[in-house]
Amino acid sequence: MSLLAVGSMAFDAIETPFGKVNKIVGGSATYVAYTASNFIKPIQLVSVVGEDFPKETVADLESRGADFAGVERIAGKKSFFWSGKYHLDMNTRDTLVTDLNVLADFDPKLPEAYRETEYLMLGNLDPAVQLKVIEQMTRRPKFIVLDTMNFWMDIALPGLQEVLKKVDALMVNDSEARQLSGQYSLVKAAKAIMKMGPRFLIIKKGEHGALLFHEDKVFFAPALPLEEVFDPTGAGDTFAGGFIGHIAHTHDISFENMKTAIIVGSAMASFCVEKFGPEKLKMLTRYDIDMRIQDFVNLVNFDIQLV
Ligand code: AMP
Repeated sequence: MSLLAVGSMAFDAIETPFGKVNKIVGGSATYVAYTASNFIKPIQLVSVVGEDFPKETVADLESRGADFAGVERIAGKKSFFWSGKYHLDMNTRDTLVTDLNVLADFDPKLPEAYRETEYLMLGNLDPAVQLKVIEQMTRRPKFIVLDTMNFWMDIALPGLQEVLKKVDALMVNDSEARQLSGQYSLVKAAKAIMKMGPRFLIIKKGEHGALLFHEDKVFFAPALPLEEVFDPTGAGDTFAGGFIGHIAHTHDISFENMKTAIIVGSAMASFCVEKFGPEKLKMLTRYDIDMRIQDFVNLVNFDIQLV
């Protein structure tokens, strides 16, 4: 099975109530690659970086099965930079800086070998760029997942609506689902968004879990109550990497299997928040992942008998 992931590869500056880092590697494609590589290889990456992007990170990701043939490195320019600050309620954050840098003129060019890939993860990026990736596929992928954020709803809504028509699943958080649909009720929001194109909708609710909608069905996965929540940056992309990694690995796009994929995504995201940036994701073993997935099973497993 093959997986293509497009997204940002970046430097982030992050402040949470528990600490601060001025420069750490981040970006949506970076998190997806660190996560999905636990389930499937290779991960064909499509992104752009400046000459400042660490060669050690590239080597580390390559050693985990990431393919950089679709990642452009632009001499004399800087990588995308994002800075955010979390308050005590870490479900919300303020974006302080978004310096697009090399992302401003990103014109993705898919290597020939990427054009028939079966699973496509469109990580958070300008919808116009996401569309260009879809248009370069010579065979329609079996499953296309789109991640986006309020930033693109604010400045590129028509482009986003165009991409929505071409994808199978959308991932957004609850406030973004409300913004996109104009509906407060998440059930009504889901109905409205599924009319825009995606047959599946995943609404992430941070420490309150995630919802999966499809036709008239809905599935809920909790988030694991954690002792240490250090930095939620990248949790959404990590969730996406676990979700699509599991789907691509199992080659099964049924609603039933997607429920498992949501649990895998939630388990991976629960690791991500335990350290700054992608640090925790770099340390995981298959055993850690299996144990964490089992924690989720135990959390929600109960017998009930109705009389
Ligand atoms: P998440 O916390 O999952 O929403 O993702 C955080 C990551 O998204 C950070 O590492 C940022 O570098 C990246 N990011 C933030 N804003 C954007 C944007 N407008 N376009 C692409 N990537 C972004």
